[in-house]
Amino acid sequence: MTAEETIFSKIIRQEIPATLLYQDDLVTAFRDIQPKAPTHILIVPNKLIPTVNQVTSDDELAMGRLFTVARKLAEQEGIAEDGYRLIVNCNRHGGQEVYHLHMHLLGGEPLGGLLPQA
Ligand code: AMP
Repeated sequence: MTAEETIFSKIIRQEIPATLLYQDDLVTAFRDIQPKAPTHILIVPNKLIPTVNQVTSDDELAMGRLFTVARKLAEQEGIAEDGYRLIVNCNRHGGQEVYHLHMHLLGGEPLGGLLPQA
């Protein structure tokens, strides 16, 4: 199965505008267009991996880089000390909307419980 590109591939190649905060050979970070918290950043592997279900051992360096970049950006945003949340949604039940694996970095205010209360 060939994975279909999403808007995130265009952001990674800088073909469409986004507020880019970080980019290296493995990952790209940019501000979420519809922020759910004062800090809401997406950190994505440059390689198109649709969901966590397609992650392989070849991707371990890039997956680890998501965390080290999240740590650096949290410090840069001034939210490291108070704390933040990292989220990776997978498929329908996880609420995934864009099928290019991404880590959400959310913070800047108390984020409440893990899941919305019914
Ligand atoms: P998810 O539900 O985990 O797939 O999250 C997808 C996220 O991508 C949402 O928070 C959207 O607001 C965000 N998003 C969609 N399009 C863009 C875009 N062009 N630039 C920045 N963020 C985007």
